[in-house]
Amino acid sequence: MNTTIRTRFAPSPTGFLHLGSLRTALYCFLFTRKHNGTFILRIEDTDQERQVPGATEVIYDTLRDCGIHWDEGPDVGGPAAPYIQSERKDSYLPYARQLIETGHAYYCFCTKEDLALRRRQAEAHGETWKYDKHCLRLPNEEIQAKLRAGTPYVIRQNTPVTGESDFDDLVYGHIAAPNETLDDMVLIKADGMPTYNFANVIDDNSMGITHVIRGMEYLSSTPKYNLLYRALGWEIPQYIHLPNVMRDNQHKLSKRDGDAYYSDFIQKGYLTEALINYLALVGWNPGNEREFFTMEELIEAFSVSGLSKSPAIFDLNKLTWFNAEYIRRLPFEDYLSRATPWFDQALLGKGIDYRRLAELMQGRTEVFNRIPDMVRFLGKMPDFDKELYLNKKQKSTQDSLMPSLKLARDILIPLSPWTEDKIHDALMAGIKEAGLKNGTVLWPLRVAISGQASTPGGAIEIAWLLGKDETLLRLNAAIEDLEKQEERKNP
Ligand code: GLU
Repeated sequence: MNTTIRTRFAPSPTGFLHLGSLRTALYCFLFTRKHNGTFILRIEDTDQERQVPGATEVIYDTLRDCGIHWDEGPDVGGPAAPYIQSERKDSYLPYARQLIETGHAYYCFCTKEDLALRRRQAEAHGETWKYDKHCLRLPNEEIQAKLRAGTPYVIRQNTPVTGESDFDDLVYGHIAAPNETLDDMVLIKADGMPTYNFANVIDDNSMGITHVIRGMEYLSSTPKYNLLYRALGWEIPQYIHLPNVMRDNQHKLSKRDGDAYYSDFIQKGYLTEALINYLALVGWNPGNEREFFTMEELIEAFSVSGLSKSPAIFDLNKLTWFNAEYIRRLPFEDYLSRATPWFDQALLGKGIDYRRLAELMQGRTEVFNRIPDMVRFLGKMPDFDKELYLNKKQKSTQDSLMPSLKLARDILIPLSPWTEDKIHDALMAGIKEAGLKNGTVLWPLRVAISGQASTPGGAIEIAWLLGKDETLLRLNAAIEDLEKQEERKNP
């Protein structure tokens, strides 16, 4: 490709950044960097009713967190400034007027009520409604009179009624639409603001965009955009439309299920790097089995030919698997500082050594928000099912249970200092002396002091983390409990 590539990500500031939008931004960025092009951020805020205060900052912060950096944009400026559509609002009307003069657009004075009535009539006849070009047929004097009288109007595109509009999309291939199916969409609204449909064409041209990369929901309108480009004598950009990111074949990612927005995942304790790595693979295939990529590596590997047009399924389990891998690879100090607030949720003020706990937890953390439930037992002994004591594989049986717990207690009572090495050596020696298998003692000991089927670390690590007093307290309570149970059975 010899012309410099210019692309844009053009979000509307309507709330948090949706994962589908984030993936669009990511592909746009990868494609542009790969070809040493210029990546532009444009804020599309012409639909004033849908604006959410602060949403533009959320877009900036999210993209920056993700390592998606723009070369031109509202905050960094550039040759095509301004990059916020509402600040460009005066630039659109002259083009709309030009289109009116050349017969490619017209004033429309129909009121909402007029339109609703004619729509009902059309539907009553089993027709699908599209604007019926009513105002295209108004005599010029009437149009001028209405304009002079200040009658509210919109400006509509005048789409041809015969022929076909077609183009080649780099993902979806050849797209052709009979012109009679295209509706005369509104270009300028009654408030003088352009619609997205109009502004995107004007801005993409003014900003010299060579490749338009966006969601497939715009695919069916693209023939209309192309008619505008032609009517204005402009070169049509290349198109890369992207399939939706879906939860499964039927369902979109949704706000209600908490799986739609970047921020949902960050709050739960997914790592940005893991999310970006996985998101890159939702709809794009590097052409080999490779799964792990840094941003630099993604840029290197990215190609449009790896994009797929089938719905891209966002598999939460797969993301979680990626996340666990990324967590495992974090430098320890980084893991510790990220895990600390989650430890605090369950263990604040409980005197647990977070550093040792972090060593035990790092390899087991899939998502940070699962930490509190995994470590809560260290702060407070939970109730548990006594069946947990019995474990065939560990040779822990009903008969061995009480002697094992008492043996452990006898070994641990005199122990000092309370170090993991000492606990380990003393237990091993004691178990050996008693002629038992390790599991016969360590399994019920761990259950007695944790109440969990699985724990970060084994009996020795847990005993150390709890400290001597708490370990013996829990062990005594477990023994007493079992004794009471015994008495109830054989009074
Ligand atoms: N503002 C549009 C959106 O957020 C952008 C579509 C486009 O990229 O052209 O969906």
